[in-house]
Amino acid sequence: MKGRVVKVAGPLVVAEDIPGARMYDVVRVGERGLIGEIIELRGRRASIQVYEETSGLGPGEVVISTGRPLSVELGPGLMSSIYDGIQRPLDVIAAMAGEYVTRGIELPGLDRERRWEFVPAVEPGQTVKAGDLLGTVEETPLVEHRVLVPPDVPEGTVEEVRAGAATVEQTVAVLKTPTGRREVAMLQRWPVRRPRPVGRKLPPVVPLTTGQRVIDTFFPIAKGGTACIPGPFGSGKTVVQHQLSKWADADIIVFIGCGERGNEMTDVLLEFPELKDPRSGRPLMERTVLVANTSNMPVAAREASIYTGITIAEYYRDMGYDVALMADSTSRWAEALREISGRLEEMPGEEGYPAYLGSRAAEFYERSGRVVCLGSSAREGSLSIVGAVSPPGGDLSEPVTQATLRIVKVFWGLDDRLAQRKHFPAINWLLSYSLYTSRLDPYYAEQAGPDFPENRTRAMAIMQEEAELEEIVRLVGVDALSPRQRLTLETAKSIREDFLYQSAFHEVDTYCSMAKQHRLLRLILAFHDQALRALEAGAPLEALLELPVREKIARARYTPEEELERLDALAAEVATQVGQARART
Ligand code: ADP
Repeated sequence: MKGRVVKVAGPLVVAEDIPGARMYDVVRVGERGLIGEIIELRGRRASIQVYEETSGLGPGEVVISTGRPLSVELGPGLMSSIYDGIQRPLDVIAAMAGEYVTRGIELPGLDRERRWEFVPAVEPGQTVKAGDLLGTVEETPLVEHRVLVPPDVPEGTVEEVRAGAATVEQTVAVLKTPTGRREVAMLQRWPVRRPRPVGRKLPPVVPLTTGQRVIDTFFPIAKGGTACIPGPFGSGKTVVQHQLSKWADADIIVFIGCGERGNEMTDVLLEFPELKDPRSGRPLMERTVLVANTSNMPVAAREASIYTGITIAEYYRDMGYDVALMADSTSRWAEALREISGRLEEMPGEEGYPAYLGSRAAEFYERSGRVVCLGSSAREGSLSIVGAVSPPGGDLSEPVTQATLRIVKVFWGLDDRLAQRKHFPAINWLLSYSLYTSRLDPYYAEQAGPDFPENRTRAMAIMQEEAELEEIVRLVGVDALSPRQRLTLETAKSIREDFLYQSAFHEVDTYCSMAKQHRLLRLILAFHDQALRALEAGAPLEALLELPVREKIARARYTPEEELERLDALAAEVATQVGQARART
């Protein structure tokens, strides 16, 4: 008996009598062997989500099950790769078949020829368990690839270990396990829809420092945390994503491009390989994996790309790395879910999205976390997720944004009005939030300064007061404000322009350490506090605002990291100048 196509509806194919059909197994459809996945089974009938263009496919064509779930290949060679949603290397395909992915093409995710210099970390006779380090290879100059005992080998004894050059398929270690001899190669496979196991989860108490002031100081993300960023066109989303990729203290970056409108995906493919890792000066791609859907790939492939990307990210987390995954945009993924759900004639939920949109999104974000990895060494790793959403018309009440906001703990509200006013990063400080701040504060208090949490709270209160005062000014004019209130407006302006504003393109300003963030904010608040006291003692506001030290505060963010003591000197200057202004009254 052979499986046969009975119906084709865009990316959805219905087939009957596929021998050995199981949910989520990969099948090959038709003469060309198009790649698909069984997403519904009813009696003899299977609904198949096909990851390739189905035009020309018709009833009667053969369908064969591979008997395996959709899986990724894991091993050295992932770094620097650019994959499509089902882990076919786009560069290899481009070389073979020109610009477009040729249908039915089957290509391994990892190069079978390339040899890697395997350096053992174990000796024969040693006992090991799942997750233990067997050896390393230099995957790129930036990444040491750690070859681990696979999760499905609970324990064993090393019988043999082979140092030296090996391809990903060659055996590098032989283990004696309770169930028999097991040859371990560097290549492992893992089904994408199943989270990889960890030892245990750890609380989100360490920040993922990004060097971006508005993020780190006001709306921080924890290592292993989740964040959402909406990106109205032209609001600076790309620049934020690039800054995070370059500067976040993550070892590994996984960037999933789910296919934006028009040509945006091709932009990512062109831009990312150009980025430099600022700390080493080497190409950022040496610690990056790109998963991208080219514009001609059908929507279903976007669905797969999310899982392909996160499984690769988990694999590096398991090695003990801090991994940052960015998905741009999860709205396109949700649209893929909606399209498939519609074709399956499921009961639609809000705006046609399936009712399980929220649970699917939750399952994805739940794969984040800071963890103790499997294995006896108690290695720690983390996987942080930043998901971009593209709400149509910037309407944050739409279902995908809402479903995402119910799950993630950080919201960076990019605002095109701020971008139009050339305030960058255009993250709206009144809309954004982070639910990690209180858990991270002990860390900040210790690392940045004991007064850091309090300064943030005070600065935010000033920003909120600014919004209220601006309302009054709009209604009755600035003259209605007291000198104290006008000082608050000036301080808020200083927080906006001298702290929140950060140029991604300025050599020094592009990255700001926590120590510098702490000092800058403290400086701005010190001026505020002392000026306030001078005001109360009768000093005129104008005289205080004209003090030369204000000009220096405005340029303080250009202070190089090696010269932070200059900011302390500046704080002393604030005290002297305000003191003098006060004495003159
Ligand atoms: P989007 O991806 O949302 O369409 P981009 O990230 O390409 O927008 O940003 C649009 C423009 O805004 C950039 O070309 C740049 O000139 C400016 N811009 C964005 N972020 C910054 C920043 N942090 N510093 C300086 N300029 C910025």
